[in-house]
Amino acid sequence: MRILVTGGAGFIGSAVCRHLVKDPSNFVINLDKLTYAGNLASLRSIENSHNYKFIKADICDESRVLQILQQERVEAIMHLAAESHVDRSIDGPAAFVQTNVVGTYHLLSAALTHWRLLAEENQAQFRFHHVSTDEVFGDLPFESGIFTEETPYAPSSPYSASKAASDHLVRAWGETYGLPVVLSNCSNNYGPFHFPEKLIPLVILNALEEKPLPVYGKGENVRDWLQVEDHAQALATVLTRGTVGESYNIGGNAERTNLQVVEAICDILDQVRPRAGGKKYRDLITFVPDRPGHDRRYAIDSSKIRRELGWAPSESFESGLARTVDWFLENDWWWRPIREGTYNGNRLGKLKEG
Ligand code: NAD
Repeated sequence: MRILVTGGAGFIGSAVCRHLVKDPSNFVINLDKLTYAGNLASLRSIENSHNYKFIKADICDESRVLQILQQERVEAIMHLAAESHVDRSIDGPAAFVQTNVVGTYHLLSAALTHWRLLAEENQAQFRFHHVSTDEVFGDLPFESGIFTEETPYAPSSPYSASKAASDHLVRAWGETYGLPVVLSNCSNNYGPFHFPEKLIPLVILNALEEKPLPVYGKGENVRDWLQVEDHAQALATVLTRGTVGESYNIGGNAERTNLQVVEAICDILDQVRPRAGGKKYRDLITFVPDRPGHDRRYAIDSSKIRRELGWAPSESFESGLARTVDWFLENDWWWRPIREGTYNGNRLGKLKEG
């Protein structure tokens, strides 16, 4: 299949590209604008593959996207391009509305034109897979509850509101125009090539540099965690075997409080990279004022994708986290330029800590 992946230079998109390229019957076109979060270094292992191609473009540029869809004879779109960091959405929501809402509209509009042209040529095989988050469902009490595909949307942050809006647009293009869409909503991802503004890589790298390990509030907020390669596998499954018009929740059955996650990283590092003088990494944990509107708990019921499509995560949170810590220890060539603000022509500047 000829698959266009939007946002393929990002954390999950690059894992999806690396996964899809393994199948020689796929041809993968990675369309990415290369914002601060896009990093072609994450694709170094596949950049010379015969069945992979990168095109720098903005999903908001509808005529350019349509031209690419036509020229590349695209048979499926996996839409991951987005502004994705909740904290940034609080400081600057405009970019989130622009890319996640307006950009998704333009991509849908180009996809609809392309799909209709394909149909005129009797090449009806086409799919638009929209990749979204469990944050569209809002938050759950600490004690109970779980998100299913039927849970009403109740987003809390500018990020999750913009993703919810994009989910609605995609469903509407399916219902109104018959575009063959499929959706998935996933819990928090972690793993190799994770941009170090997010909790897990930030904590690993701050710990290695003996810097404070920031934890919001009391660290009680609960997230469900999924290793990114398991997510990529789930996405490929939804794309190829999911039913048109349906959505699938994807999760790892691995609910942890933020404090548990940070402490687990500290304990792994104590084993593999002990601090000097017998000090413990947990001593670096620093509680910082809570994020406004911070959702208490997310928990995802992924029984539908497990039951109907036969997907299940391959790895426990404990082993995935240990592997992730090892990856960051062994791959400073990837993260050091980001930490030092020298990658991507120094467009990023220094990261704020905490
Ligand atoms: P990311 O921020 O790492 O990557 C986003 C990518 O999109 C970057 O490469 C960026 O350059 C690109 N991009 C941004 N604006 C663009 C535009 N206008 N045109 C083209 N490309 C553009 O994000 P991620 O963590 O890999 O998330 C990917 C998708 O998965 C997002 O849609 C996100 O909402 C969703 N998601 C993420 C998680 C998670 O835990 N990270 C969980 C569930 C769902």
